[in-house]
Amino acid sequence: MEKRKVGVLGGGQLGRMLIEAANRLNIQVNVLDIDKSPAKQISSHDGHITGSFKDAKKVKELAESSDVVTVEIEHVDTQMLEEVSKDVVVEPSWNTLRIIKDKFAQKEYLKEHSIAVAESLDLEGKADGDQALRDVGREFGYPFMLKSKTEAYDGKGNFAVMTEEDVPAAIKSLGARPLYAEKWADFKMELAVMVVKTKDGVLTFPTVETVHEDSICKLTYAPPRGVERATQTRAQELAKKAIAAFEGKGVFGVEMFLLKDDSLVVNEIAPRPHNSGHYTIEACKISQYQAHLRAILDIPIVPEGLELIQPSIMLNILGGQTTDSHEKIASLALEKTTASVHLYGKGDARPGRKMGHITLLASTMAEAERQIQPLIDAVDNQKG
Ligand code: ATP
Ligand code: MG
Ligand code: MG
Repeated sequence: MEKRKVGVLGGGQLGRMLIEAANRLNIQVNVLDIDKSPAKQISSHDGHITGSFKDAKKVKELAESSDVVTVEIEHVDTQMLEEVSKDVVVEPSWNTLRIIKDKFAQKEYLKEHSIAVAESLDLEGKADGDQALRDVGREFGYPFMLKSKTEAYDGKGNFAVMTEEDVPAAIKSLGARPLYAEKWADFKMELAVMVVKTKDGVLTFPTVETVHEDSICKLTYAPPRGVERATQTRAQELAKKAIAAFEGKGVFGVEMFLLKDDSLVVNEIAPRPHNSGHYTIEACKISQYQAHLRAILDIPIVPEGLELIQPSIMLNILGGQTTDSHEKIASLALEKTTASVHLYGKGDARPGRKMGHITLLASTMAEAERQIQPLIDAVDNQKG
């Protein structure tokens, strides 16, 4: 049916789940990453490229062997993507990737398009970092969040500056990176919406609640607990408006803060499938991965396919204190629950590394919470 080949920069867990979706439609996906990366493990053909998605030469090679190029990570060489976009379709657009991969540029762009974001201050090029941070403290008050503009994921790139005493430690931790500071968002909950941008417009998946621990996503709840339907709709509308401002097709993750006064601000955008959309594999008829492929290839998406089938909870399985802690959590889930277990084939576990996830569906959120509690307890125990 589909003869076009998709090239993807990055072969981690998101690439792997994208391939699970592609395999069902006989779509060949060429992966650029190291050999035996999670995505390549489940995809046997001659089209994969060995190398780094930051390597311009390799990106060019991938483009030459693909019809549509996409990403599972935004920290890529957008210079080369711009160049190859003359000969091959790049989705979402290289320009969108370039703006989003720099979190400060991303937020400036959102502000220009009248999307509410946390207030921020540029710190790049300030000669005296120590003094610059103390100035931020005076302007924003404490705590504030120090953030790396680039190469940030799973909180690696964030430092919460709680008091003026933290300034030297913050500089020590992030001082070598391009920085900006963000006003503390005193949120009552974090929400996220996966948005699908197609040739015809912008669609959304449901609003979910995300719970982060140590700046890493731990849980998602779909629907969010105790949030009025009207607020959920507002989050979807804000997410749609934010993504409509960018060029290109595909799925986008929009992370938001629900503030104490019920207003919403965008935290950040991911130009690709996202952790907060894993639940869609089981909880929606069309998953975020399926939706991404269809959007970039102009394959139809019936909007009802993005609706929630049942309340669901997704729990991330991170590497723990021992190399097999994550496998123990997976075994427990298989033994005690009807949840779907996903392991990513990453090999060695490091503490905090995303090794897999579990999605549990039930007829009510209360029932889902009851069933998943032993697994949350096990995750908390493994952290010690
Ligand atoms: P991801 O893995 O989602 O790309 P990241 O490393 O880019 O994450 P952020 O999304 O900026 O990091 O922040 C991670 C978490 O830190 C947020 O989900 C939130 O819990 C907290 N956080 C970030 N910015 C702020 C802020 N301005 N005020 C309060 N908390 C914040
Ligand atoms: Mg991020
Ligand atoms: Mg984030």
